[in-house]
Amino acid sequence: MAKTFLITGGAGFIGSAVVRELIGNTDHRVVSVDKLTYAGNLASLEPIADSPRHVFVRADIGDVPAMQQVFEQHRPDVVMHLAAESHVDRSIEGPADFIHTNLVGTSVLLEVSRGYWTALKGSVPEKAADFRFHHVSTDEVYGDLDGAEGLFAETTPYAPSSPYAASKAGADHLVRAWHRTFGLPTLVTHCSNNYGPYHFPEKLIPLMILNALAGKPLPIYGDGQQIRDWLHVEDHARALIKVAMQGRAGETYNIGGLNEKSNLEVVETICDLLQERVPQDTRYRDLITFVADRPGHDRRYAIDAGKIARELDWVPQETFESGLCRTVEWYLSNEDWWRCIQDGSYLGQRLGLTDAF
Ligand code: NAD
Repeated sequence: MAKTFLITGGAGFIGSAVVRELIGNTDHRVVSVDKLTYAGNLASLEPIADSPRHVFVRADIGDVPAMQQVFEQHRPDVVMHLAAESHVDRSIEGPADFIHTNLVGTSVLLEVSRGYWTALKGSVPEKAADFRFHHVSTDEVYGDLDGAEGLFAETTPYAPSSPYAASKAGADHLVRAWHRTFGLPTLVTHCSNNYGPYHFPEKLIPLMILNALAGKPLPIYGDGQQIRDWLHVEDHARALIKVAMQGRAGETYNIGGLNEKSNLEVVETICDLLQERVPQDTRYRDLITFVADRPGHDRRYAIDAGKIARELDWVPQETFESGLCRTVEWYLSNEDWWRCIQDGSYLGQRLGLTDAF
């Protein structure tokens, strides 16, 4: 049966992929709530902009009356919470926004969800029984793995390193407390590094593609041997929908791509893919420049995604090789999307949008 999904952070990288998947490939309705910070981009929702099953609301998740109005008006069956400050480097430069959105914002959503769900239990018990609050979290809450062995499991103790990871860890604890104390039917997922289309150009993969095309240096932190497990954003979106629809309330699921790569390997592969597609006299690999490491930089993340495979029959469809190739080609054919970010004109799309209705 078609459900109403409330997606927070729907104009962000992963949120917009979930919205495009829900509208493009299911019958569900979607309400996207997004404050449109620098990371939110309405152009990422353009492919589904004409759908009558999608509504966009510009609002801050920390704004209690605005969130209450969204719940009362749209009566969601699933809250999928992706709105966050998400860039580790920015959390080191200034953690305040991370505390506001990732911790305070999550607590507001939990309380508004609890009030809505409690009222629903009295009025429409069958809708209340199916209600889910799904927090989309990160593998960074686990800290880093020592050496080449070992994987993060759902039971791995938390040891966040950056202010970003600590704020996401705190939000996870709030979500579990709302389940344990108030019985709110929650789900938590921890995912590894995502990549794919519509990724804001401050993140490693799009930054390297666009710097290389512009002939600019390709800065790599430290020795470039930090290992990340990469997952294509469309695989993540499909996993999230599966967890929201079929996951057991109160449970946690880890989501990973089974693609461990060092940062240097990722950048060298991008250089080689570009060399084949946009040949130049100078080699893109010669643009690689090692810079001082990020403070507290985690060495290795790797996910054990066995639980979601066993319980929900989810495995990634994309290999890193095929996914990275598609991603490079997407940036080559969607220059309008990233040029608007580089020249700041994407910010103009917000003009005329009212806050929460
Ligand atoms: P993003 O930065 O691209 O998008 C975040 C979105 O949230 C933006 O559209 C922004 O405008 C919106 N937002 C920020 N503050 C808000 C507020 N106060 N109220 C309403 N909207 C607000 O991030 P992303 O990469 O799409 O990540 C989405 C979620 O997935 C985050 O919670 C992140 O922690 C998690 N995650 C990301 C990755 C990854 O590799 N990108 C991996 C695992 C988990």
